[in-house]
Amino acid sequence: MATLTKTLKLPFLRLNQTKAEMFARLERLNTEVANAILALPKDHRRALTSKSFAGVEIGSAWINQTIRNANARTHVKRFLRLPLETNNQNWRLHRTGATFSLGFGLLRGIKKRVPLEVHAASHRDALTALWEGRAKAGSLMLVRSKKGIWYACLSVSMDVPDAENTGRWVGVDRGQNIPVAAATPDGPVVFWKAARMRHVRRIYAERRCKLQKAGKRRAVKNLESKERRIVTHINHCISKDLVALAKRQGAGLILENLAGIRGRSKQRQETKSDAGQNRDYWPFYQLEAFVRYKALAAGVQVDSVRPHYTSKTCHVCGALNERRKHAYVCTRCGHQAHADANAAMNIRDWYGLCCPLELEVPAGGPHEPAPNPVRETAAQAAA
Ligand SMILES: [Zn+2]
Repeated sequence: MATLTKTLKLPFLRLNQTKAEMFARLERLNTEVANAILALPKDHRRALTSKSFAGVEIGSAWINQTIRNANARTHVKRFLRLPLETNNQNWRLHRTGATFSLGFGLLRGIKKRVPLEVHAASHRDALTALWEGRAKAGSLMLVRSKKGIWYACLSVSMDVPDAENTGRWVGVDRGQNIPVAAATPDGPVVFWKAARMRHVRRIYAERRCKLQKAGKRRAVKNLESKERRIVTHINHCISKDLVALAKRQGAGLILENLAGIRGRSKQRQETKSDAGQNRDYWPFYQLEAFVRYKALAAGVQVDSVRPHYTSKTCHVCGALNERRKHAYVCTRCGHQAHADANAAMNIRDWYGLCCPLELEVPAGGPHEPAPNPVRETAAQAAA
């Protein structure tokens, strides 16, 4: 059994003006408390409890969390806004008919129930699981969007059955130009292109540079967070599609293990100076994290293989060749393919195979390229 943790962001149903104003006022108060904590010397902060803020009208459970949050963020000098948060012991979910509501006491000694608006079916399922005791409640956070809508962010964790091994795999090659090339079990390779990601990187780098020169630091920060949101959104879309593809094919996903790639691979300074191509801006890890949790929720298995030689090896004969940009041409068998498609097919077919450590001994004499040991193992396995 694996544990799936989700955060449900649910708007409050017809929240009246008084309550919205109260939330806003208490959030400001909460931020003041957090900033007061930051102003204290470090050894004083450790000794703080909710009693230290007995005069503040926010409930003690919320204040305790504020103390924890303020102490945890050591790099923050001052909070502009710290949302109100509490742990699982201080809120309850209630249900009347089809309407879910949250019961929590924001002010000291006063408990109120506030109904929630639930549209997404997956949110409704998660809330039903929580109400029926099949899921565990986590923290509750009250956040306000830029448009001024108040949301309850509920953290819910539940056990999900382990994904079944169907013996079919989709090989996933992640790259900078083509974020994802996925080789389906039956052959065709599906591409996700993200010219938009490159475009966003370039445009934003240019704008940031101008603002930096003009000394507009706040505007630079805002631009950075906007860029981050766009890239995150693209990664959400790609990972959602990818998991859906694997689900439709009844297959699991095989990724390359790209840990440490930034340290290993070198880029020319000229390439690096182009924000669209700089590998440091390549959000491959976020994509993997999104794929893993979406796959967990969908019951799709995810595993990884070593990335070495996946893009250099010919998928047909196993010879090693260099890729030329997007084109892969094998000098031995003449196989031609898109370089990322070739890599994705290697990733798909190499999974679960082992490689005998005789790479330095070419089998067919010094002039013949060494046959790929992995391919041989595959042939043996087939025989
Ligand atoms: Zn070949």
